[in-house]
Amino acid sequence: MKQVEIVTTAILLSWVVVVIMLERRFPYRKGLPFFREGFWTDLVLYTLVQSFFLKIIIFDYIILPLDQHFSFSKLNFVTGWPVWVQVLFFLITHDFYIYWFHRWQHHSPVLWRTHEAHHSGKQVDWLAGSRSHAVEILINQTIEFAPIILLGADPVVVPIKALIDAVWGIWIHSNVDVKSGRLQYFFNGPEMHLWHHADHQEVYHANFSTKFAFWDWMFGTAYLPGHKPDKWGLYYAFPKDYFMQHVFSVKRFDDRELQRRYPFYRRYQLFLPVLGRRLRTLAKRRGPGSTPVVTTDTNPSRVSA
Ligand SMILES: [Zn+2]
Ligand SMILES: [Zn+2]
Repeated sequence: MKQVEIVTTAILLSWVVVVIMLERRFPYRKGLPFFREGFWTDLVLYTLVQSFFLKIIIFDYIILPLDQHFSFSKLNFVTGWPVWVQVLFFLITHDFYIYWFHRWQHHSPVLWRTHEAHHSGKQVDWLAGSRSHAVEILINQTIEFAPIILLGADPVVVPIKALIDAVWGIWIHSNVDVKSGRLQYFFNGPEMHLWHHADHQEVYHANFSTKFAFWDWMFGTAYLPGHKPDKWGLYYAFPKDYFMQHVFSVKRFDDRELQRRYPFYRRYQLFLPVLGRRLRTLAKRRGPGSTPVVTTDTNPSRVSA
């Protein structure tokens, strides 16, 4: 592992610990369990496995051949700039892009299929942002990292940018009750993004910003009332399994009916939740400090506007 990767990994892990502690101390929603529904799917399949394979596809099979074919990086468009200017430049330009693409995903029925998984969790916490459809990541990270490499940026810009993405992504989804006052007009945080994950019709098309909140305030999509939402996730039933979530984005099916019809699928579905429940029980047995489990009923009968 390169030295820069060791440093960025250490910073990221430290940030995870800090945010988890903040979630325990200042919870936005009280009673949210640490091992909440979908925890293992998000950690193992989305964060570790999917990221590992998509990184290879994006960098080795898309960006590298593009660079070899067009040799854009040899033109050194941004090479002479200080590293911090390069980072700031790509941070702002990509954030502007992601605001509009995210907004488009919420308006287009086809693109929504690549984004609904991200909204499917009913218990939003530091890890919830990792749940993103493979196609969504493929598009967004290619558009994010290809210009950095093709415009001849310093190689260190890629891990720095990836670290900022991860740190900010963890922060905006964290279950931390923060009041950032006027900073909220500039920097995006849990105050606005937890509303974006709420199952309230008034925010189905609001709070699209990722890092800089000013896009929402500038383009009229900011939503920040004085109270908190009372329900999160999708208004319709959504599969809990990683692979079935991707199948569902192409072909709709009734997950409960599948479980009724195929016992092996029911057993497969039960494996991770059972493991999660066991760990929750163990945590509870440890005594005070443990938290009650929040119910996660889905309500497929409700239809949005
Ligand atoms: Zn969204
Ligand atoms: Zn989100």
